[in-house]
Amino acid sequence: MPDFPRLIKQVVEPQNVIEGAGVRLQRAFGPSRANPLDPFLLFDHFHFDNALEGPISGFPTHPHRGIETVSYILEGGVRHRDSLGHTGIIGAGDVQWMTSGRGILHEEMPKRGPDGVITGFQLWVNLPAAKKMVPPRYQEVNAQSIPTVQNEGIKVRVIAGTYEGVQGPVTEIAANPLYLDVQLKPGVEIVLPTPLGHTVMAYLFKGGGWFGVADGLRGSQVTAVHMVIFDDGDHMRVRAADDTVARFIVIAGAPFKEPIFPYGPFVMNSPEEIMQAFEDLRNGTFVKDSPI
Ligand code: MN
Repeated sequence: MPDFPRLIKQVVEPQNVIEGAGVRLQRAFGPSRANPLDPFLLFDHFHFDNALEGPISGFPTHPHRGIETVSYILEGGVRHRDSLGHTGIIGAGDVQWMTSGRGILHEEMPKRGPDGVITGFQLWVNLPAAKKMVPPRYQEVNAQSIPTVQNEGIKVRVIAGTYEGVQGPVTEIAANPLYLDVQLKPGVEIVLPTPLGHTVMAYLFKGGGWFGVADGLRGSQVTAVHMVIFDDGDHMRVRAADDTVARFIVIAGAPFKEPIFPYGPFVMNSPEEIMQAFEDLRNGTFVKDSPI
């Protein structure tokens, strides 16, 4: 590997937030005008494992415009239904990459699995100004359609982008993203090439390890649960600690470098475009066509 490894810029402690109809989430980051993680806007982690808590209230009908929402479910499921008649269950191991484009109205209702557990993630990816008003598009990927690459203590599910020559099923995304679910056995290191200038992060949700370079000078030990934000470089390294596995989501993508104006479930480029979204909702012209 060439010698320009990505070092750690920041380790983020996810914060408890309440969203939708009272759903408790861990949020690593949310949309802001400063847009420090361009092209990524938000990362939420939901995990419920106590059946005594009862049903999860979920996210009743709400709109989106100007973004992509990426749901990746590990346990349990999410029932999804939108105003265009599109409906389905995102089950364990499945991904839904939803390009809202100019607008959808949908509901997302988490359901516990047979053992009462639900675990999943939602990432918001920005769209460039030129694509914010495209027709909505869904890429629904079943667990079985997501390739798994396994070797020498490394197991990687490739959702978007490429790992070891294996391409993930989610394609044609403006941010040119990498989205991987990585599991490392104790002491095992993964080295991933990452284009210079791309935003790169890893959400460590199980175990711990060295992020950056595992020499004690240029890397740091991190334990779950944290979002690790990397500095620039042409590759990233993570090595699981000697006494534990490490499991994390790798997210990388090309920044759009455009001014953004986020407001609730909309992310546009100007306040005028946000006003337009509200006007379209009032006029009943927000949803124009069926999803692709
Ligand atoms: Mn939504």
